[in-house]
This record gives sequence, C-alpha cells and structure tokens, in this order.
Amino acid sequence: MQPYSTQLIQEDDIASVIQTLRSPLLTQGHIIEKFEEDLCQFCEVKYALGFNSATSALYAAYNACNLGGFEAITTPISFVATSNMLLQNHSMPIFCDIKSDGNIDENKISSLITPKTKAIVSIDYGGKSVEVEKIQQIAKNNKLVFISDSSHSIGGRFNNKRIGSLADATIFSFHPVKPITTIEGGALLTNSKDIYEKAKLIRSHGVLKKHLWCYDVITNGFNFRMNEIQAALGISQLKKLEEFIQIREEIACFYDNFFAKNPFFTTLHQNNIHQSSNHLYPILINPNLFEKKEQIFQKALKEKIGIQIHYKPIYQFSYYKDRYPQMFLPQAEYFYNAEISIPCHQKMNLQMAKQIAEQLLTIFETL
Ligand SMILES: *Cc1c(COP(=O)(O)O)cnc(C)c1O
Repeated sequence: MQPYSTQLIQEDDIASVIQTLRSPLLTQGHIIEKFEEDLCQFCEVKYALGFNSATSALYAAYNACNLGGFEAITTPISFVATSNMLLQNHSMPIFCDIKSDGNIDENKISSLITPKTKAIVSIDYGGKSVEVEKIQQIAKNNKLVFISDSSHSIGGRFNNKRIGSLADATIFSFHPVKPITTIEGGALLTNSKDIYEKAKLIRSHGVLKKHLWCYDVITNGFNFRMNEIQAALGISQLKKLEEFIQIREEIACFYDNFFAKNPFFTTLHQNNIHQSSNHLYPILINPNLFEKKEQIFQKALKEKIGIQIHYKPIYQFSYYKDRYPQMFLPQAEYFYNAEISIPCHQKMNLQMAKQIAEQLLTIFETL
C-alpha cells in the first residue's frame, strides 16, 4: 500500500537513536533541550517546548492562555484533537466555515465574536498557512489570542516567514504521517515568556525546581514530556525537513501538471508565496461524483493506493452532535464531500507519482 503520507527513517536517524539509548539519561536530559533550541533557530522563535504529542501541546497551550470558561473560534475541518482539547479545557469551540482551500475563512471570524470569545484557533490545512496577517489583525482588534495548530505545516512559510513564530502560540505534531517524526511527539512554540513558563509547568506536574532536592508544586500538571530518544530522532529529522519538503513539492508540481486538464477533479496545491509543507496533496472531486466517493475509495484501496479523506466536519461526530444539533456549514460540508488526499511524501519519487496518477485517472475513467 502506498500511503497518503508516511515517515522516511534513514541510517543516520537510526544511529542517533541507538547512540541516545546508550546515554545515561533517557528522559529529561540535554538532548530535548538541544531539539528545542534547534526548533527555535529553525522557526526564528524565542521559546520551544517538546511534548509527547501535539494533542498534549494543544492542551498546554489552551491552558496556558486561560481559555477555560470562554469561547474559541475554530475550524470544523481539522483532526478532532484541535477541538477536543478545547472541550477538555472547558472552552467552547465555535465553528467557523472554511474557504475553498480548506483553511478557516478569516472573513467570517468577526461575526462569530461575542463577549465570551477569548481565542482564534486555526489550522494550516494540508501544510498551507492561514492568512496570518488578517487573523492577527482581528485578534488584536478584539483582544483575542491567536493559536495556530500547525500540526501539518512545520517548514512551511507565510510570505517569507517561517510558520512557528507568527501566532501567539504554534503547535507542531511529529506523528509519523506529519512532515517530520519523533514517532509520537509534538511541540509548542511561542514568543511569549508567560505562555512558555505556564506550558512548561503543565508539561511536568506543575513542578518548579528550586535548590538541590528542593522543588515546589505551584499548579496542577501532567507528564506530557518528550523523551531523549524522541528528541534525538527529532534533531536528526529536522535537518532533513527542507529536503523532504522539496521532494513533496516536486511531486505536487508533477501532479498539478498531470491532472491539469482532467474532467473529474480539481487540485488544491498552488506554487505561491505561502510555501506549503505539502503534508497533504488534496484533490476535490466534482459534485456529480460525490455519490461515487465510496466506489472511488474502494477501487483505490484495491489498487493499493492509500488515499484518505481530510476531514469530516468535527461537529458531525457523535460526541459533538448534542452540542451542535443544527450545525451546517456549507463550505465545510462541500469540502468533506469533495476532498481526497492522494499519496505525496518524501519516500516517493516522480516515477511512483506518475504510476499513481495514471492509476487514479483510470479509476475515474472506469467508474
Ligand atoms: C495530527 C494532528 C493533531 C494531533 O497530533 P498528535 O501528535 O497525534 O497528537 C492535531 N491537530 C491536527 C490538525 C493534526 O493533523
């Protein structure tokens, strides 16, 4: 099966993991600190904290920004963790409709702001940045925090600026399907000392180290830490991120050309100033094919093409339905009906992309 996305682990990644396994400290040592420094340098941001997942980093970010008891305007087209962690913080997700590129529609945010709104939580769908400057402006005008779930987009850019330093807090995921991996893992990046210090306490039991054996517990917390072996893999992977993105970009450009004149679907990838990490290569099938989506999916699986759908609108899930009984956001619904993510990752080459592209077109031609 050729998956829609997957990790690329090479000999040097393996060597650094093995070397770290032999080191005296397997957790809470200097390697995590080095990985955090590398992330700061790469993203041109002041503070970075490694976490054991993006989900726990999201929890810590929301908690550090005191979202409890307030509303957060967010997107229904995301992995459910973006909203789950809001609910876990007693913050109410207010779903905003999206644009045709899958990102939150910044023009629809203002009408959803109430006296209870505290934050805007966006995601960089498929790896492409949201309209950062417009969202920053709305946040500033209304005294809201801007939190970016950038689980898809490490290495991407808004204009010429790296994703990671543009929101009040930015979250990355290092799950194996994401642009780089630490197996499980995530990170929180911020320029705010306050958010950094609070999130750091939440990450590790609310413990503040004092002197020798003496520490204090000044808030409640968890064990959300990333270990040394994950961090070693992260350091090694981060060095290759540019190269990985370049491979994805070449494949994406090949698909763009190959599919340019096909009558079945349009493509989302654009070669523009907001450089995407191309975590996903989404195609949007034409409305007359919506009812054939299951058939397309079945046929692709039979051909060992590991396509996936990103995403079902979060408010449609059972856990959310009771809270949002009448919710229907037309663009989000349309996107869910139309979208299919096809294989695009750093383990592929153009020859593989060509084969997949041909197989896919054959599937559509023989529906
Ligand atoms: C993958 C993903 C997450 C969760 O990441 P984990 O590291 O698996 O916790 C959260 N949000 C988005 C948008 C994601 O794609």
